[in-house]
Amino acid sequence: MSGTNGARNVQQQTTEVAIIGAGFAGLGMAIRLRQEGEENFVVFEAADRVGGTWRDNTYPGCGCDVPSHLYSYSFEPRPQWSRAYSPQQEILEYIEYCVAKNNLTPKIRFSTPIEKAEYDEVKQRWCLTSKAGEVFFARYLVAGTGPLAKPSYPNVPGRETFKGAQFHSARWDHDYDLKGKKVAVIGTGASAIQFVPAILPEVAELTLFQRTPPWIMPRPDRAYTEGEKERFARHPRLQRLYRNAIYWRMEATAMGLTVKPEWMKFVAKLGRKHINSQVEDPELRAKVTPDYLPGCKRILVSNNYYPALASPKANVVTDSIEAITEKGVRTANDEYEVDAILYGTGFAVTEFMADMKLVGRDGMELHDRWQKGIEAYYGMCVSGFPNFFILVGPNTGLGHNSIIFMIEAQVNWILRALKSTRRRGAGVLDVQEKVQRDFNGRIHQRLADSVWQSGCQSWYLDQNGHNFSLWPGFTVEYWARTQRFQPDHFRFEDRS
Ligand code: NAP
Repeated sequence: MSGTNGARNVQQQTTEVAIIGAGFAGLGMAIRLRQEGEENFVVFEAADRVGGTWRDNTYPGCGCDVPSHLYSYSFEPRPQWSRAYSPQQEILEYIEYCVAKNNLTPKIRFSTPIEKAEYDEVKQRWCLTSKAGEVFFARYLVAGTGPLAKPSYPNVPGRETFKGAQFHSARWDHDYDLKGKKVAVIGTGASAIQFVPAILPEVAELTLFQRTPPWIMPRPDRAYTEGEKERFARHPRLQRLYRNAIYWRMEATAMGLTVKPEWMKFVAKLGRKHINSQVEDPELRAKVTPDYLPGCKRILVSNNYYPALASPKANVVTDSIEAITEKGVRTANDEYEVDAILYGTGFAVTEFMADMKLVGRDGMELHDRWQKGIEAYYGMCVSGFPNFFILVGPNTGLGHNSIIFMIEAQVNWILRALKSTRRRGAGVLDVQEKVQRDFNGRIHQRLADSVWQSGCQSWYLDQNGHNFSLWPGFTVEYWARTQRFQPDHFRFEDRS
């Protein structure tokens, strides 16, 4: 199992499947491998704890906008969810529970960031090098690193000159006391609309820099009663029925997003009603009312965001930011002096797996391969990168349903792919270039009519307006299409 690299005297280890990332995706892969009797796998995790995005995002008010009973593995239902929409801590505890229940800790190499993965044609293996210089070989490589991992900061000059405190929502500084402080918040996405109302009672003043207002719907949140939790525990079928009802309710939205964007005008009506019921000031109403179709950017849910903005402590600034200065934030019309700047500015999604150099056949780097456009076969396989699978890869993100559903479909498809490869005595599978190209051609044809291409700017699109993020239809279609592994779409090589 192990050897030595004489030159660097580092340990080399070999495994059948290497999984990178111990978040929902990577752990889902690990649990399903184990359920299928595969023990020869290792999970590499850069941090010292599992949880992925639910470990990194600890900002006040952090929670999930997909209902708890659906935002969980189908094979690990949890009757005790405290609320309809779970807070971050409870989701993190759920992930840790899944790890403990499946005794996965011994399988996880914590504090082991993988810096490079290179495919070795001769060995038919991926060679992984960690930051500390350890070398690992794996026949199959699964990336569970997720697209929302690397914080993105606004592209304005002067950030380094600011003398006060500043941090990103995904790197919240809990040692910084916001009490009585004047703060600037940049961004009005899913994260900011959660932490703005949560910090407002603490701060003295909050200036919110809004570039584009999001569409926000009421959040039908409530605590589950002890009776409900007991019923879910006693009747697993009832819980499954409940989960399915949530799934199909959310799934219905895909019709408006992908097939009939004009239907989203009805959603806009609901959004305007929500604004009008929570905001009295006509000037603020006008500022927070979007001028694009709902769904073009992610539709958010909140009951306390608009009331927070309507507070006398809050000020919404819609002028664009020119610079960050020593004292605060400068727009064309004003300079706002603050004690702290909080960035709710999202993630560098186009820099997918940015911290890792991935080198496939013929020395081709994944980032170079994607220079002309980020694409994969069902979001999972990239031609020229054999035995490599991506979870939540290109065009498999969602604007309307639970990503855990997609992760499970992908994990199960990968298991089918591995079985089929082994059954034919092969050790290598590589998706055919033409199949991948045709698949993406069809995807982008469909995306052209979707609400995401209806004119707004969002992180779903790259700088050319190309949607590399989202699945163009119903998740049930993705599930159905990934029920079968199609060997004729791949090239195989005998196992050496
Ligand atoms: P985001 O949705 O990408 O929002 C970033 C915000 O920063 C946007 O309002 C953007 O404005 C703004 N911004 C960026 N640069 C700016 C600049 N120079 N000046 C002013 N504003 C600027 O990021 P996020 O809120 O962190 O959410 C990212 C994703 O994480 C979500 O879409 C969702 O998938 C996930 N998330 C999910 C949950 C959940 O409950 N499940 C919670 C949080 C996050 P523009 O709109 O004009 O670009």
